[in-house]
Amino acid sequence: MNVTAIDQLPVVVVGAGPAGLAAAAHLVDRGLEPLVLEAGTQAGAAVREWSHVRLFSAWGEVVDPIAEKLLAPTGWVKPDADTYPTGGDWAVAYLQPLADVLGDRVRLDARVTGISRTGRDRVVDADREQQPFTVHIRYGDGREERVLARAVIDASGTWATPSPAGADGLPALGERAVADRISYRVPDLKDPAVRARYAGRRTAVIGSGASAFTALASLAALAKSRDGADTRATWILRRAISGNTFGGGSADQLPARGSLGLAAKAAVDEGYADAVTGFRTDAIERDGEHLVLVAEDGRRLDPVDEVIVLTGFRPDLTFLDELRLGLDDRLQAPVELAPLIDPNQHSCGTVYPHGVKELAHPEEGVYLVGMKSYGRAPSFLALTGYEQVRSVVAAIAGDRESAERVELVLPETGVCGGAGLFDQPADTPTDDGGCCASPTALQIGVGAPAVSGGC
Ligand SMILES: Cc1cc2nc3c(=O)[nH]c(=O)nc-3n(C[C@H](O)[C@H](O)[C@H](O)COP(=O)(O)OP(=O)(O)OC[C@H]3O[C@@H](n4cnc5c(N)ncnc54)[C@H](O)[C@@H]3O)c2cc1C
Repeated sequence: MNVTAIDQLPVVVVGAGPAGLAAAAHLVDRGLEPLVLEAGTQAGAAVREWSHVRLFSAWGEVVDPIAEKLLAPTGWVKPDADTYPTGGDWAVAYLQPLADVLGDRVRLDARVTGISRTGRDRVVDADREQQPFTVHIRYGDGREERVLARAVIDASGTWATPSPAGADGLPALGERAVADRISYRVPDLKDPAVRARYAGRRTAVIGSGASAFTALASLAALAKSRDGADTRATWILRRAISGNTFGGGSADQLPARGSLGLAAKAAVDEGYADAVTGFRTDAIERDGEHLVLVAEDGRRLDPVDEVIVLTGFRPDLTFLDELRLGLDDRLQAPVELAPLIDPNQHSCGTVYPHGVKELAHPEEGVYLVGMKSYGRAPSFLALTGYEQVRSVVAAIAGDRESAERVELVLPETGVCGGAGLFDQPADTPTDDGGCCASPTALQIGVGAPAVSGGC
């Protein structure tokens, strides 16, 4: 196919989440044709699955400016920029209207099952760059289709592939056998059935990020309520508790994100959660009606009734197997982006704005954006995704100058720890190679204030 003909093809966007829909809006704004393929039956399918969780970002930080421009003629009114939506609000009041404006350019119930260069598998060099992409789709009713694309923006997120309980990144021994007692989601304790599952029970919460904080705070709130007496949590961390454990607290430039950590800290301080540190989960055993978690070093915890695993997410790369991606060994994020977000290298959670340069692959014309671009790294922000798609779409449109310009200043987390705190004991010396140089912050224990200042 000649270059002109390829240029007539749509840009396929995988996923109608916040990043994918924003990408489509940017494409339309530049006069390019998007085709958004969404596996779920509604736009924002993944966000809707955590509709009960309140974002730590206010409305002003989760609406893409070009999407807003596209919505304006419909009479869409942006919610108050200073209020905080839930996932459900985000989907209903923003993602759905945006998908509605995009109309037929968004196909629902359309799962992308493979992407390749037309007639060229991963191995073949001949005329590779001259071939359009071929995108394999399977619809909900079982039909299959192939569409050709001039470029592919994969914004399929990581929500469907949560990490397991096992500290080695694989399911713990017995994890699958007790699947009925494990959740990989923050529970919606407003749902009576879910509430009954955790009320008055002991739950092990595995993980150390914002979702674990939210789960611990929710279980503590349940414990304080009339129907929740005796609700308790065992909070399991691979690392020791340090000044960073609860996030940036009041130094976080996103105050609601900082508050999540403080709420988790309160759950521990008030006795609703016992923290177990340095625990690398190896097995989950059934003990009558209870579950017993066993660590790699042989430690066995007191029995629990339920387990909530919030150990992060990982990207599904299976449908990209025939493409030549340049991914970092550790994070499974684009190689140029990885050092900017690697928690092994800096623990600030402060991410530098980036665009097409950091998101490029050896295979030209394919980009991973949004949550998926972070691979296994934590702390992705929607704002980051919006800047990514602005830059990527500019590059696809041939506007290199705009593509390479950084137009975003991201809020800092206020977590100051230097390098290497991802999974190490508190007494391990660090070479403060991160972006924040606050030596005292490294010494703060659980009883001390959670933060010592901003980055
Ligand atoms: C509980 C929670 C709270 C968060 N809170 C905040 C916050 O306060 N502020 C903030 O900035 N960020 C927050 N984030 C992070 C991030 O902004 C969100 O996860 C956001 O939804 C990421 O957008 P996305 O478009 O990259 O991915 P997603 O929202 O996951 O969207 C991906 C879409 O792709 C679809 N899909 C997947 N596979 C396929 C396939 N093979 N074919 C077709 N479609 C497919 C999915 O169904 C989904 O609709 C939060 C994340 C979580 C999980």
